[in-house]
Amino acid sequence: MARAPFELAGVKVAPGGRAQIDVPVAKLYTHAPLHIPVEVVHGRQPGPTLLVCGAIHGDEINGVEIVRRLLRSKGLQGLRGTLIAVPIVNVFGFVQHSRYLPDRRDLNRCFPGTETGSLGSRVAALFREQIVDQATHIIDLHTGAIHRTNLPQIRAQLTPESETEAIAMAFGVPVILNAELREGSLRHYAQSRGVPVLTYEAGEALRFDEWAIAPGVRGVRRVMRAIGMLASDRRRATPRPAEVANGSSWSRAPIDGILRPKVRLGARVAKGEVLGKVADPFGNSEEEVRATADGIVIGMGNLPLANEGEALFHVARFDAIEEAESAVETFQSDYDPAHEGMV
Ligand SMILES: [Zn+2]
Repeated sequence: MARAPFELAGVKVAPGGRAQIDVPVAKLYTHAPLHIPVEVVHGRQPGPTLLVCGAIHGDEINGVEIVRRLLRSKGLQGLRGTLIAVPIVNVFGFVQHSRYLPDRRDLNRCFPGTETGSLGSRVAALFREQIVDQATHIIDLHTGAIHRTNLPQIRAQLTPESETEAIAMAFGVPVILNAELREGSLRHYAQSRGVPVLTYEAGEALRFDEWAIAPGVRGVRRVMRAIGMLASDRRRATPRPAEVANGSSWSRAPIDGILRPKVRLGARVAKGEVLGKVADPFGNSEEEVRATADGIVIGMGNLPLANEGEALFHVARFDAIEEAESAVETFQSDYDPAHEGMV
């Protein structure tokens, strides 16, 4: 029996077909209509329905490029199941180069949303009803906030032997943060419905970081192979297993001033180690920023100007710190920024 067409926002996509669908989201006050752009690839054979989405935070654009490359990548014509690719969820913020919606709300704190709530709540409700609720698996693509960069990492709630844990491992980046779920996030909503969901965090807002994009594309495709959507490729080496962090904490600016970092993203650091120094512009007063635990630097600020208390270095803690260090080193040598170039 032939597979049924896939329907999204009133558009039917036949098995073996693909379609770009503009999901109407609102009208701007200029009267211009606004859409969430979606591409659906509906395989001939049954399988999972994977949602891959970027820019829920409108300035986090590495995910937009990950989705573009994913849609142009090989093998999708033989897809099993259905891929729903949404490069830009927060279209308002994307146009404004902003993380937020025009009412300053964070769309990723508005789920599940309602049709009568704030703008954020309405956009969340529309995205959920039209798109999210159709998915059996979700990968949500993020970057660090503005002026902050993240070592490529997966955030997920890892229940032992759950499908979420399996796809988190399959993604193939060196660090997994078994992260708390934030109320109102897409991840919290999906998890509460029992849908396996990953957040991929990599690179910096408003930047294209090749070392974050390339492993992101590769990771999504690995997950698609792991859940049977793409044929497995025996020639490909399986990635080195990720290390799961058992917690993380930020080292903060001890005083207002100008920061000189002493460590790089991905560095292994020891508790008490100097991660950077903050000084006033004359150098009269200077204080050290120290690591609060042994671990790996998985996020840091790129803006060297700091207010007292500002989060500067994000350090993840591991039981197996040696393994984590070596996993990060292997990963970084595979994606050496010195050899980077856009594909
Ligand atoms: Zn984000």
